[in-house]
Amino acid sequence: MTVSSRTQVGIVGAGPAGLLLSYLLALRGIDSIVVENRSRAYCEARQRAGLLEAGSVELLRSVGLGERMDAEGLEHGGIYLQFEGERHHLDFRDLTGGRWVTIYAQTEIVKDLIQARLAAGATIEFEVSDTSVAGLDADRPVLRYTDSAGTRHQVSCDAIAGCDGFHGVCRDSMPPGLIQTAEREYPYSWLGILASVAPSTDELIYSRHPDGFALHTMRTRQVSRLYLQVPADEDIDRWPDERIWTELQHRLGIPGWELKEGPISEKAISPMRSFVAYPMRYRRLFLAGDAAHIVPPTGAKGLNLALADVTVLAKALTSLLQEGDADLVDAYSDTCLARVWRATHFSWWMTSMLHVDPNRDEFGAALQIAQLRYVISSRAAATTLAENYTGYFRLTWEP
Ligand SMILES: Cc1cc2nc3c(=O)[nH]c(=O)nc-3n(C[C@H](O)[C@H](O)[C@H](O)COP(=O)(O)OP(=O)(O)OC[C@H]3O[C@@H](n4cnc5c(N)ncnc54)[C@H](O)[C@@H]3O)c2cc1C
Repeated sequence: MTVSSRTQVGIVGAGPAGLLLSYLLALRGIDSIVVENRSRAYCEARQRAGLLEAGSVELLRSVGLGERMDAEGLEHGGIYLQFEGERHHLDFRDLTGGRWVTIYAQTEIVKDLIQARLAAGATIEFEVSDTSVAGLDADRPVLRYTDSAGTRHQVSCDAIAGCDGFHGVCRDSMPPGLIQTAEREYPYSWLGILASVAPSTDELIYSRHPDGFALHTMRTRQVSRLYLQVPADEDIDRWPDERIWTELQHRLGIPGWELKEGPISEKAISPMRSFVAYPMRYRRLFLAGDAAHIVPPTGAKGLNLALADVTVLAKALTSLLQEGDADLVDAYSDTCLARVWRATHFSWWMTSMLHVDPNRDEFGAALQIAQLRYVISSRAAATTLAENYTGYFRLTWEP
């Protein structure tokens, strides 16, 4: 038996994009349903991003999601760039007229959003299967899924948002030939760890070392997050904890500074990829977040782009569904892609400047050092990095 129902917006995916979209639509009095193929516990524990641009922070605050972030988040006014054995500080506030970034883990944003939506009586269907979207040429597209108890559902929607990440179903449901893609794969991956030890630094350290890139970031005052550049097809079993700490000490160490070690609670290897699919809309099906684009994490943009897309989408759907005005939905893809391509360039640029080419490229290595020296010695170059890192495009939400 199939249960039929109706909602205004069907949302596929309970990541940051899908959950924030559902939250923002509710602020405008628009109904939605969120379907998610993982469990709530899995979504709340999945280790991913942790750095918010100033605009993302301001957005979350302005819509009533700032309380725990303001209490527990760590505000950073800059980063360290390290190369050739020297560590240099970039002061974002000075360079950008006061902009900053905040460390607040994606897991916490997801928890805050799930808690807020469920407290408001919203429907989030976890552990669904066989999700599909259909009827895309009609005014009422249909979202189908099987719930965790095995009941098949068919939801008639005014619009569907594909917030289902890179491996979701919505992008591939677009009509054949509509979507174009632009892609770059990098010849290295990131081995990331979560360690139960206080961070050894007040702000992030990006280190270009001849043996590979390393990054020291953090999640809280008690939890450190560290990354190492490893070969693209690396096997995690080749990296026992002791080897990871030895390599981190080697790539991050400078005289007079100590990297504190602690128990590793999680480790994983992530591939590095740039990917943009466009347009991000077909009639009443909209793609948002990782469903439409992926950036390598060096620029810390993935989560911020996901939040930005759905802020634009929530405004556009409000105009469409409440005033019958299609101008903003017509502009949705182009509006998002301007920000996406800026972030894609910045993420590629940071990645290319800081990682070591496994194919031993002396010329490329010399260019990287020349670029890093330029960034730390030219106010104009440092400002370019700072304004992109803290968020080049403004993000607004009118109460
Ligand atoms: C391993 C990893 C590490 C990362 N690290 C960083 C980082 O350090 N810094 C940074 O800025 N960014 C990082 N990112 C990127 C950042 O986390 C993403 O950009 C962000 O999660 C995008 O949010 P989203 O909501 O668009 O997609 P997602 O968070 O991927 O959410 C999509 C949701 O859709 C669900 N879903 C998928 N298919 C279906 C289906 N058929 N039916 C129902 N539900 C479905 C998924 O289970 C998931 O919950 C990382 C990403 C990954 C994968």
